Amino acid sequence: MYYKKNSYSIHGIPVLKDNIIWVWVRGSQAIAIDPSIAGPVEAWLKRRNLKLIGILQTHHHDDHIGGTKSLLNEWPNSVVVASKADLNRIPFQTISVTSEDELSLMGCQIKVLDVAGHTKCHLAYYIPSKNESSCKPTLFCGDTLFGAGCGRIFEGTPEEMYRALQRINKLPEDTQIYCAHEYTEDNLRWANSIFPKDLSIKERLEKVKKIRRNGHLTLPTNIAEERKSNLFIRAKTIEEFKRLRLNKDSWKG
Ligand SMILES: [Zn+2]
Repeated sequence: MYYKKNSYSIHGIPVLKDNIIWVWVRGSQAIAIDPSIAGPVEAWLKRRNLKLIGILQTHHHDDHIGGTKSLLNEWPNSVVVASKADLNRIPFQTISVTSEDELSLMGCQIKVLDVAGHTKCHLAYYIPSKNESSCKPTLFCGDTLFGAGCGRIFEGTPEEMYRALQRINKLPEDTQIYCAHEYTEDNLRWANSIFPKDLSIKERLEKVKKIRRNGHLTLPTNIAEERKSNLFIRAKTIEEFKRLRLNKDSWKG
């Protein structure tokens, strides 16, 4: 199923504690997003006889770029796309990008979105559905948005993170969101502890618990779902957003 010439597919490789390395495949080519480590990606690609042609980096944290060097040893012609403003912190860049840049890889137009907040130079990569493929619009958002949650604010400001989430929220509602960590269940337990009567949260939590019990990923998520049950996306004001972020930061589960 991976080899159909013009069809695209995206696969999640769970690694480390809760990271997911997404591999985007078309024909015999593949692009890895935020490879924290190389081994499992290399094995996965080789088993399927696929060639790595690109790596997309959303931000500089080691659990997102740690595997890039080894993957380049194996596939030296692979391009590395990352933030120009983070040239010092993200090595091996061959395509350095800034907000709103567009690039073309594997026959797809990819738009670069500035989603600072988790880090100062955090980027997301958006692929609209108008590409020749029949896939839905796609977003690789790193540690900005998670299933029913959002990233911690390490370097940016709450204002920046709120703006980043609102930027994502403007995308079409069927946009498939590929987050870099599997945190959905934990986020929903937290949301449920604040609003125990909220049915959107409660029902999603039940669904997600079952998916996790069966050992599957709860991702990708999509904009429509996040609008219903992600408290950070639902926040109407920056004050409300700040309160929620502080509350989650100190939540012990
Ligand atoms: Zn991070």
